[in-house]
Amino acid sequence: MDSFTNENFSFSHESLQRDFELLTKAVDASISGVIITDNQQPDNPIIYCNAAFERMTGYVRNEIIGRNCRFLQKEDRGQKERKILKDAIAEGKHSVVEIRNYTKSGSLFWNELYLSPIKDEKGNITYFIGVQHDVTQRKKAEQDLKQEQQSLERKVEERTRVIKESEEYLSSIYQTVRESLIVLDPEFKVLSVNEHFLRTFKVSTAETEGQLLYDLGNGQWDIPKLKELVEQILPTSNPVENFEVEHDFPQIGHKTMLLNAYRIELEGQYKDRILIAIEDITDRREIERRKDDFLSIASHELKTPLTTIKGYVQMMERFMPEAADDKFKNIVKKTGSYVERLNSLIGELLDVSRIQTGKIELHKEPFDFDKMLYDTVEGMQTANKEFDIEISGKSVNNYVGDELQLVQVVNNLLSNAIKYSPNAHKIVVHTSLVSDFLKVSVTDYGMGISIEDQKNIFERFYRVGDIQQHFPGMGIGLYVCEQVIKKHGGTIWVESEKGKGSTFSFTLPLNERKNDE
Ligand code: ADP
Repeated sequence: MDSFTNENFSFSHESLQRDFELLTKAVDASISGVIITDNQQPDNPIIYCNAAFERMTGYVRNEIIGRNCRFLQKEDRGQKERKILKDAIAEGKHSVVEIRNYTKSGSLFWNELYLSPIKDEKGNITYFIGVQHDVTQRKKAEQDLKQEQQSLERKVEERTRVIKESEEYLSSIYQTVRESLIVLDPEFKVLSVNEHFLRTFKVSTAETEGQLLYDLGNGQWDIPKLKELVEQILPTSNPVENFEVEHDFPQIGHKTMLLNAYRIELEGQYKDRILIAIEDITDRREIERRKDDFLSIASHELKTPLTTIKGYVQMMERFMPEAADDKFKNIVKKTGSYVERLNSLIGELLDVSRIQTGKIELHKEPFDFDKMLYDTVEGMQTANKEFDIEISGKSVNNYVGDELQLVQVVNNLLSNAIKYSPNAHKIVVHTSLVSDFLKVSVTDYGMGISIEDQKNIFERFYRVGDIQQHFPGMGIGLYVCEQVIKKHGGTIWVESEKGKGSTFSFTLPLNERKNDE
């Protein structure tokens, strides 16, 4: 028996044999597929495969031994990994590839293959050892992930395109509108302004963008009240509506601007931005002023001759001979009543112009409010016999205010209730004390007012479109009512449903000026 010894090793044929069998068993038991190919034989055939390799490929040992590894690729020969393997074998190098292999039954599996050359003592490559793992699951997961990523990328691209389109769309509107627009960030710095803004204020983009709103153009927007409103937009989402600014603007002179500001949000893109729309209403205000001037002059000019005419008509009535015929008497009477009507129309116009020029003055004196109300209703009832005007409740006997003006308010409300009730003949007036206010309501069952119109009827000269032709009037009455009530520190409002009727109510504070005790 061959054997030799030295200090560290003891080799014998039996022990080598035992070690070899042990190693073979270990490799056989490995869960990695292992093959050995013999590089010294033509076409580098497989000379060893373990059980895991058989399981992985579905072939049995005697179908494997003697073949070149390429049989595992079947017809799938175009893979670049094959070239990598071929080069590694030719150059005798290590290599690792992930290659598509096919089992005996033809199903694809991904083989992660480690190939290592074995060299003899002269450096010639004698064998290759291939260790492989089936990584099909991992590959599939990778591929699924890739597909998912690609589809996600496509979705992102699509979304970006849609957002870009909608941004372009918005931007074209933003640039085209005939109103100056500013967009601010939450710190009130200007993010952008539109063309109209640049043209109106004769400034450049560089002078505006990035600046604080309040620093723009000589601090022209540094107005405490505006500041307070704008700063409330983001926390409360309340817009600033119709805020008027009169200012000497650096490049464009004295102007009146109307400001509206809103919070804007574009889902996914940005939030917490403020859009300010600025409208130059200088010309509109000027036209209104001229109209008011004209109204004031015209009504004053008309009032004087009319007063004279009224005097003459009164004289005619007074000096009318007993014997004058009835026709003549009737004509004079009618003239008198038309002159009276003209007089009250001109009176209304004068009221408006007085209000407009701030010349409305209250002559406040204590008077019995309830008596005033009941008397006014009675007067209306007498003049409109076909109506049934009910009155109930009580408020105060001692109120300090302008009695004549308040009579006018009640009269206006009652005459509207009558005028706009062509098919109903009932009106209900109620007065009461609510906390430290007196309250009066006038309810009719007439044509009612749409929600849209309710917002405007207190404006001067506003009349509801579809009824203008059928009912005489100038759209002044409610305007005067509101001004008078406001002057007394009170509030007037309407509740109404179209086709069902309206209730106009007003309240007047009692305590404000110690009106009642
Ligand atoms: P005028 O009656 O002269 O038109 P007002 O200022 O008194 O002017 O009223 C403004 C508008 O409000 C009216 O034209 C009418 O359309 C509407 N309106 C006022 N009161 C009533 C009411 N009681 N019922 C229905 N509509 C009313």
